[in-house]
Amino acid sequence: MNMTNETANGFGEQLFRQLKGVSGEKRQKLIEEINLSLGFDEPAIRERRHANRLRCPTCGTATSASIVCYGKAKPGSDRQRYLCKSCGAFFNDHTGTVLHRTKKLERWPLFLKYLLDGQSIRQIAKEAGISPTTAQAWRKKLLTHLAEKMSSTLSGIVEAVEISVKTSYKGKHKLYTPASKTRETLVFCKSRNGNVCVSHGSLQELKQSCKNSDILWHTHLIPATPISSAERRLLHTKQADAIAGHFANQYARMRGTATTNLPLYAAWHQFQHETRHFTQREKIRRLLFAGL
Ligand SMILES: [Zn+2]
Repeated sequence: MNMTNETANGFGEQLFRQLKGVSGEKRQKLIEEINLSLGFDEPAIRERRHANRLRCPTCGTATSASIVCYGKAKPGSDRQRYLCKSCGAFFNDHTGTVLHRTKKLERWPLFLKYLLDGQSIRQIAKEAGISPTTAQAWRKKLLTHLAEKMSSTLSGIVEAVEISVKTSYKGKHKLYTPASKTRETLVFCKSRNGNVCVSHGSLQELKQSCKNSDILWHTHLIPATPISSAERRLLHTKQADAIAGHFANQYARMRGTATTNLPLYAAWHQFQHETRHFTQREKIRRLLFAGL
C-alpha cells in the first residue's frame, strides 16, 4: 500500500497538497473544490444510487406511483427524501449506502484518498479532519460493502481455491492465549466473467450458501475419469490460484489482521489489485461510488 508514482502528477494532487497547513474557511473551500473535481455531490450520489430504479429499501417496491418525493433529508440539504406509499417507510438518497448517517460527508473523498495512500488510521483521521473512531468506522463500512458486493456477483464458471492461514489474535487481550495454534480457511473465487469474491470458511460452506444453482465450480479436485486436453483447458483454476497466491504472500508479511476482518481485508486487497493500473483519481471515484 505505497504511494504510487502516478499520484505525483495525477489529478488534484496539487489540491490535496494545498490542504497542508490551511485551515478555516480556506480549507473548506479547497475541500469543496476537490469534491467538485471528483464529481462528488448529492445529485451525482442520487443518480448512482438509483441508477436502475427508485426502489423502497424496506418493502422493495419499485412501482413509480408508490414512491413520492417528501421534502429533503435535512433542511438546506440537496438530499432527497422519499415516502413509500406501499409500506409507509421514509428513506433518502443515502439509505442503504455507506454514506447513511455519515456526518462530515464532505470529508469522505479526503478519507478515501489517504486510505488509498496506505496511511494509518491515525494519520487518515488527522489529514481528513475526522476522529480516529470515525475513520475506523468508515473503513469498516466501506470494506464490508466491497466484500458483500463481490460475493453477490458470482455466476457461471467459477474457479475456487481454498487457502489456509494462521489465526491471528490481534486485538485480543494478551492473556488470551489459545489452547492450540489454529488456522483459518479462506476461499478465493474468480468467475470467468471477471468477478472475484473472497469468503471466510470452507468451500463446502460457500457452495451451500450460494443459492445461485447455475454456478459451475472449478476446483483442484482430481476428476475420477481422465479428461480430454480440451476439457483440461477449461477446467483450470489458474486465475483463482494467482489471486490467492498474491494474497497469501502479502498476508505472510503482515503482522496479522483480526480473523473476523479477513474477508474485509481480502476484499480491499482485491480492489487494489484490480485497480493497480488506474490513476489515483479513478481509484477514488471507484471507491466513492462503490459504496452506493
Ligand atoms: Zn416500501
